[in-house]
Amino acid sequence: MIKIAPSLLAADFTKLGKEVESLNSTQAYMLHLDIMDGIFVPNISFGYDIVKQIRPISSLIFDVHLMISNAPNYIDKFADAGANSITVHYEAVDNIPAILSYIRSKGISAAISVKPATPIEEIAEYLPLMDMLLIMSVEPGFGGQKYIPSSTEKIALAKNLISSKGLRTSIQVDGGVNAANIASVYKAGADIAV
Ligand code: ZN
Repeated sequence: MIKIAPSLLAADFTKLGKEVESLNSTQAYMLHLDIMDGIFVPNISFGYDIVKQIRPISSLIFDVHLMISNAPNYIDKFADAGANSITVHYEAVDNIPAILSYIRSKGISAAISVKPATPIEEIAEYLPLMDMLLIMSVEPGFGGQKYIPSSTEKIALAKNLISSKGLRTSIQVDGGVNAANIASVYKAGADIAV
């Protein structure tokens, strides 16, 4: 079964606490927290202080997706705020092994995300260093976009690479996943759908 990670971006922010608490009694696997800085992506969402405030009222795994240009400077902040998993963008980080190792040193799962235009082959060598690979199935920056169909092939390619290396890296897919396409996303090899 594919695991579901609802994104906080889909919440009604005027009822934030109630929305977060309502997920405690569902099958949701993790709470996906999209952090945008207006530089790496053309939108601004929310920061570590919001993550810290909702941490005590949620029983879910906190899955922080950093869509920011200066990720290394914020790992400590999100770790202290209660993140259980931190994803950084391959396109935004210079030293991938160093940041993955630093995230893991905080006792947190480490993940790399790739934008739709980034080929999976580029991150293949880093797969053994990460707990999860996040494949963006829309251009990062805004919620509610349409799934890019070629993402399905990309998921299958990543799954093959992970299996051929004998790894247990999980695959998360983020953007436009809905009731109509989730079966094909799962079939292609995704473990978690945002
Ligand atoms: Zn995300």
